[in-house]
Amino acid sequence: MSVLVLLEGADGHVKKSSFETAYYGSQVAAQLGTTAIGLVIGEINPADLPVMGRYGLKKVFYNNDSQLKDFVPGAYVSVTAKAAELTGATVIILPNSNTAAAIGSRLAVRLNASLASNVIALPEVTDTTFKVKQTVFSGKAFADVLLTNDRKIIAVKKNAVEVVEQEGAAEVEALMVDLENTDLIGKPKETIKATGKLPVAEADIVVSGGRGLRGPENWHLLENLADALGAATACSKPVADAGWRPHHEHVGQTGITISPNLYIAAGISGAIQHLAGVNSSKVIVVINKDPEAPFFKAADYGIVGDLFDVLPKLTEAAKALSQ
Ligand SMILES: Cc1cc2nc3c(=O)[nH]c(=O)nc-3n(C[C@H](O)[C@H](O)[C@H](O)COP(=O)(O)OP(=O)(O)OC[C@H]3O[C@@H](n4cnc5c(N)ncnc54)[C@H](O)[C@@H]3O)c2cc1C
Repeated sequence: MSVLVLLEGADGHVKKSSFETAYYGSQVAAQLGTTAIGLVIGEINPADLPVMGRYGLKKVFYNNDSQLKDFVPGAYVSVTAKAAELTGATVIILPNSNTAAAIGSRLAVRLNASLASNVIALPEVTDTTFKVKQTVFSGKAFADVLLTNDRKIIAVKKNAVEVVEQEGAAEVEALMVDLENTDLIGKPKETIKATGKLPVAEADIVVSGGRGLRGPENWHLLENLADALGAATACSKPVADAGWRPHHEHVGQTGITISPNLYIAAGISGAIQHLAGVNSSKVIVVINKDPEAPFFKAADYGIVGDLFDVLPKLTEAAKALSQ
């Protein structure tokens, strides 16, 4: 028995967001009285991996098959299934990202496992039951779900646990898997990376703008605040549709789902489709000149005011704080 954690990599390194997934896995392992083992697929530098011991992993398997430099869903399923078999994993933790969306259900079928996505807390485990809390209906409600199969797959959202780093280094071992041709269906021919200072899905702080900004020529107001806070920038759908901002910055039901520690929304009304992508942020700050804007209902802090006055003031305050 063990808990297997799928870690995500980028540019040869384990993504920071995977530290939390690893820690979550280690806490589930502690609940079950077993150990947590990581798996990373792609061109990751193995020298980077012992550090995962700090997040509670005893061992990390890496698969650096050159065919899997880019994400290939079928192959990821096969490698993860192989690792699950090898480690006798009864619980498999996935990041609640596009990866989980692409492989979770296939992996569940392959391993005959129960699957829960959008999980926001550690499971409640007894001798006979395994219960997880997940968000449902685009984050508008919670569901407590019993996972009843012997194997369980949990796709865990950001901020589900507070990470506590510990001493220790993870053992590292290569895991190569003979892939079938069918595993490689869907292998991308070319990957074009989104440019930008900080990927929005990875950022701890996100500063986001909507139609209230009136046009792309005013985006420097948001970018200045983002620079002062070390934040990524995001936008509402109509903003991306109008070509004011690139589509990879669009958050919401039809865009990216994010859970930063701080989400600052300026000139965004707070339509349910927008909220669906951001409402699991830890702290939400809304700036809107309309006191009746629906976003204020979801906000932890609200500023009723003209963003053209408020954003420069916030930027000055953030700069002053960091000096
Ligand atoms: C199927 C479907 C999927 C969708 N998916 C998404 C999605 O993924 N993400 C998404 O964002 N939307 C999505 N939408 C669109 C969504 O319904 C809203 O239309 C959209 O979020 C509104 O964008 P907005 O808030 O930027 O613009 P608006 O609704 O036009 O709001 C602009 C806001 O700015 C405020 N404002 C104006 N000037 C100022 C100022 N000077 N200072 C301060 N505040 C000001 C206004 O009071 C207003 O609240 C989807 C819609 C559908 C039907």
